[in-house]
Amino acid sequence: MIYLDYSATTPVNKEVLDSFNKACLDYIGNPNSFHSLGVKSNDLINSATKQIADLLNVKESEIIYTSGATESNNLAIKGIALKYQNRGKHIITTALEHSSIYGPISYLENFGFECDFVNIDENGCVDIEHLKSLMRDDTILVSINSVSSEIGIIQPIKKIIEVLKDYPKCFFHVDMTQSMGKINIPLDGIDLASFSGHKFFGMKGIGCLIRKEKVMLEPIIHGGKSTTIYRSGTPALPLIVSLSKALRLAYTDMDKHYEKVMNLNKKIRNSLSKYDLVRINSNDLCSPYILNFSILNIKPETFVHALEKYEVYISTQSACSTTNTISKAVLALTNDEKRAISSLRVSISYITTEKEIDEFISIFDKCYNSLEFIGK
Ligand code: PMP
Repeated sequence: MIYLDYSATTPVNKEVLDSFNKACLDYIGNPNSFHSLGVKSNDLINSATKQIADLLNVKESEIIYTSGATESNNLAIKGIALKYQNRGKHIITTALEHSSIYGPISYLENFGFECDFVNIDENGCVDIEHLKSLMRDDTILVSINSVSSEIGIIQPIKKIIEVLKDYPKCFFHVDMTQSMGKINIPLDGIDLASFSGHKFFGMKGIGCLIRKEKVMLEPIIHGGKSTTIYRSGTPALPLIVSLSKALRLAYTDMDKHYEKVMNLNKKIRNSLSKYDLVRINSNDLCSPYILNFSILNIKPETFVHALEKYEVYISTQSACSTTNTISKAVLALTNDEKRAISSLRVSISYITTEKEIDEFISIFDKCYNSLEFIGK
């Protein structure tokens, strides 16, 4: 099997799973219970939270555990909108976001919130001048990802922070799901940041929303005590412990992993660029973990299934897109419908081997040449 869909999800690291299992078996108390088993569980959560806080250079009280980035994005967007609606109802985002950004925003539009999309330049980066022109006194939130899930475009987060300094009433949310543990983006100047553990060899079902101290949120899940007032429910102790382990592992050798992935990416890029009908959508400035390309005149599903026969697994668009017809992100970047309806995504990781990439290249060649559309 050659798995090249790591941006959709990663297999759990064995050490992470061990820490999860150990916490499940050894820490049975509810961290909210007052007896000694509860206290023991609570202490373990506190030490996991401290480790995450230290790695991200934030305060422990700024970490909200969630079920994953979808929930984090919902909490960030709805939480700000509901809390600060008296200040304004204007939100800005891009055409390159995950559906868990558009979902809550379009929900809020039912209640009088307005959303503008900032233009992107030829490299897919936010057009800073356009962002400045969209900012209004009633803009309460700008939500822009650090790395886009479909194409891997890395946004100029520092430049965006500079613009937002002139708008102290507006908060900046960054969906960091595709950069966390892969590309180090400091959290200074960012008010809210989302991510999921399963994108960096952690477990599915745990993520975080980082909420800087000055930011208030209206909770979207109400109920009993948790680690924070912003998200009720018994803290998922084993998942929290496993998240801190996964994050620590991801931060170890992050640069070395990046280098390795960059070299593998170049190899795939070079080989794909030789095919007449292939257009590479991710440029050299994109995250090396993601390589998006189109094969003109062919349905992406057809190609995914052709590769699958050889046990090679890649994606059409991203795993979570709601439509499989046209990629909004590729369309926004290339302005080319043909490319946008035929896009595919290969995503690699530091555990991908050169041998796997060589095999992928050779299987790609077989599939490409065997498809009827060639030469017609
Ligand atoms: N944001 C981005 C950029 C993503 O890539 C994803 C996952 N594909 C999510 C949010 C949602 O993450 P999850 O499915 O873990 O909630």
